[in-house]
Amino acid sequence: MNGLVPSAGTSLLIGGKLVPGRAGVFATVNPATEEVLGHAANASPDDLAAATIAARTAFDETEWSRDHEFRAHCIRQLRDAMRAHVEELREITVAEVGAPVMLTSGPQLEGPISDLDFAADLAETYGWTTDLGAATQMGIASRRVIRREAVGVVGAITPWNFPHQINLAKLGPALAAGNTVVLKPAPDTPWVAAVLGRLITEHTDIPAGVVNIVTSDNHHIGAALVEDPRVDMVTFTGSTRTGRSVMVGAAGNLKRTFLELGGKSAAIVLDDADIAAAVSYTAFSVAVHAGQGCALTTRLLVPRAAYADAVAAAAKTMTGMRAGDPTDAGTICGPLISEAQRDRVERYIDIARAEGGHVVAGGGRPEGRDRGYFIEPTVIANVPNTATVAQEEIFGPVLVVIPHDGDTDAVRIANESPYGLSGSVWGADPERVDRVVARVRTGTLSVNGGLWYHADAPFGGYKQSGIGREMGVAGFEEYLETKLVATPA
Ligand code: NAD
Repeated sequence: MNGLVPSAGTSLLIGGKLVPGRAGVFATVNPATEEVLGHAANASPDDLAAATIAARTAFDETEWSRDHEFRAHCIRQLRDAMRAHVEELREITVAEVGAPVMLTSGPQLEGPISDLDFAADLAETYGWTTDLGAATQMGIASRRVIRREAVGVVGAITPWNFPHQINLAKLGPALAAGNTVVLKPAPDTPWVAAVLGRLITEHTDIPAGVVNIVTSDNHHIGAALVEDPRVDMVTFTGSTRTGRSVMVGAAGNLKRTFLELGGKSAAIVLDDADIAAAVSYTAFSVAVHAGQGCALTTRLLVPRAAYADAVAAAAKTMTGMRAGDPTDAGTICGPLISEAQRDRVERYIDIARAEGGHVVAGGGRPEGRDRGYFIEPTVIANVPNTATVAQEEIFGPVLVVIPHDGDTDAVRIANESPYGLSGSVWGADPERVDRVVARVRTGTLSVNGGLWYHADAPFGGYKQSGIGREMGVAGFEEYLETKLVATPA
């Protein structure tokens, strides 16, 4: 590392100041080498309370929530600061997240920085008031105006897999809408957030207390943020299991919760599709960033007649995608984030075998890599959709291939899941594809390889994949309250 990182990494951002953590420090590890990169500030419950009070004060006692143009200016400053330090951020992202460097010019870094434009523009252009005109009730004529206002103090809790994207997809719209924020990033990727704190203090006019960042290795800090009555809203991205605890914790003071959770999405390949293209695209996508993406199509549903060929093609694609060094420009599949995550993936592969599944590609650790949390891209065949590996989120480069008996059966299998985050449909007849699209219960769908991710496109889940939408105008409006004001007409 270039020596810049540790100075940022060992500070929290509270009330506009970079401060040490009262619980000391904790290690951050390079998942590709298992080396300790350095340390991050460890927030104590007192630090969290100070951060929450700072956010509350900045919301209640400044003009931040009402000065739309100033907020747009501050968000653009943050974008510019991140761009000016993009090489430092890239180095951290590859080292700490294990993200293949190739992905940092897209969704792991540069994409989310550019997406801040959308938030800044909305702060300036959003229609904050709507005049409903006059109406008479019980003989009183009144003019009614709807005002949209910030919710207040937002607690943002994020995971490690795409940390810049998720931190910024919360910070950007929450700030644009006029809220103040306490960000609690994942314990595995504290530096990504700590550097953000340094850039905010050194390169933006964001007022003290508007953004607070509390890195911690203790999940209880997240739970305490959720339960704090001074926090008006929680925006959470992470596993469905933790999402459930967040909802329970927030229920104590009936706090608004916005949840982006897990997925087990299906790629539906119809019998008139270019099956070879659909299979290789899907297998490829599941190996990207070692399968650590919530919206990946980890269940591949193919026509029964094409099953054997599809399994062989998926195995060929996955075998060709070796897990490798994330600093290498050609790597697409890097390491898993931690030993615990690799244990989890290996446990699922064992379960697949125990339930009668055939591991037709991968299934183990790549040869010649005795350091780093690598796992081979893996294809599992011959399991029904009710098998554990077809029902539960693995969060590794593991694809399950399942046969279907026609469009209705494919939709049934796709929907036979507690999740409903994403998916894809592959077919030649647009009307037939559209009938399938209409019946799949998920928040986003790709047709024939179309990309749904963009700053203006809402993203989120049906069923146990979440509540609410991130990105787009819908993602911005999650952070708004509605106030109706009536005056005599
Ligand atoms: P996780 O649920 O273990 O942790 C997420 C965050 O919650 C971390 O910051 C963690 O410290 C915190 N946390 C843990 N327990 C908590 C509690 N009781 N109260 C409050 N906060 C708590 O998830 P992870 O392992 O970091 O990330 C992987 C998961 O995230 C996967 O399930 C993946 O599908 C999901 N994810 C979803 C999306 C989406 O947009 N839907 C995007 C990325 C990741």
